[in-house]
Amino acid sequence: MAHAEICPVCMGRGTYATAKPETSTTVTTTERVCHGCGGKGWVTVEAKPKYEITRDPNATYGPWPI
Ligand SMILES: [Zn+2]
Repeated sequence: MAHAEICPVCMGRGTYATAKPETSTTVTTTERVCHGCGGKGWVTVEAKPKYEITRDPNATYGPWPI
């Protein structure tokens, strides 16, 4: 089962600001499309249960009813 979560890279903005290299005298930032979510602002997370109970409906387990 999967669900959507806010992208942890851009915090849901879809873009993030990057500073230009130190060679430039003035500090400018550029908006870049987030590589984590591709600009959507959210990511799909595959949620897997920590454990899975598999039960054979045709099998009988002990003397107690389940
Ligand atoms: Zn993102």
